[in-house]
Amino acid sequence: MTEWKDGIAKLTLPTPFSVGDVHAYLLKGDRLTLVDAGVKTKKAWEAFRMQLAELQLRPEDIEQVILTHHHPDHVGLLDFLPPELEIHAHPLNQRWLDRTPEFTAMHDEFFSGLFHQFGVPEEYFASAVGQMKKTLLFSCGPRRLSGELFENDVPPALEGWKVIETPGHAQGHIALFREQDGVLVGGDMLLAKISPNPLLEPPLPGEKERPMPQLQYNESLHKLAKYPISLVHAGHGPDFGQVGALIEKRLARQHDRAMTVKKLLKQGELTVFELCRRLFPSVYEKEMSLTLSETVAQLDYLLDLDEIGVKEEDPAFLYSAAGR
Ligand SMILES: [Zn+2]
Repeated sequence: MTEWKDGIAKLTLPTPFSVGDVHAYLLKGDRLTLVDAGVKTKKAWEAFRMQLAELQLRPEDIEQVILTHHHPDHVGLLDFLPPELEIHAHPLNQRWLDRTPEFTAMHDEFFSGLFHQFGVPEEYFASAVGQMKKTLLFSCGPRRLSGELFENDVPPALEGWKVIETPGHAQGHIALFREQDGVLVGGDMLLAKISPNPLLEPPLPGEKERPMPQLQYNESLHKLAKYPISLVHAGHGPDFGQVGALIEKRLARQHDRAMTVKKLLKQGELTVFELCRRLFPSVYEKEMSLTLSETVAQLDYLLDLDEIGVKEEDPAFLYSAAGR
């Protein structure tokens, strides 16, 4: 049964993705605010409407939307909501909502260059890009953000709430923190059961180098650890507290994962692709882009710690445990 608790109502919406259901949240404020908006499927829309009805609400009652990030399971349902509805988010989400031909061309060119650098055999390119594009079928059509949200902003009509920028899982990821009781609406930043994928994105506007999502994500974890968070309403899975302990566990687990990668490199130099095959032998073909993201995340981390070295050879970079 969907219900209000401390001015927050949780909606649980199905997705066709392996992560399972996604949560969207309604916040009571000077405007009825929806945080995130499920995938674009009939099933998600039905679930959305039914749960609103349990609160005596209709979709038309929603007065504004805030997005934690641009991923399809957090924005797709916008297509079912009125086009004039105000949407607020970090501006780095805009390019993913527009998906202009220029952005798509830049995106594809970036990833094909990157796959070369990773040593991915050409025969996998099409399927890897295809996997990334397939999830976009569940995203929304082009949408203009009505307002941009940055660090420490109070979102419109939500007195008492504050924006925390939490890049890593997505470049434009934010969380919403309510200072009075320490409640965090966290999107995919911190989840009870799984750690979110540090997904690769093309360079940010005006930049040449790609972001390093694992390093950003770890920084975001350290940042959250400084907040007195009492309860997290997450994008997937149950609510939880004890945030400090969970953050430490996540950081330690990721460090261990990286050290496993270093061990493999001690046996000899490897490309990202060769490493990816060794780390994810049963899924790398089916989940090429995700497993490559995960692999390069560990390499970025180890390079940052000077635990490994890289030879930037043409065509593919070679990583080794020798250190620099
Ligand atoms: Zn996400």
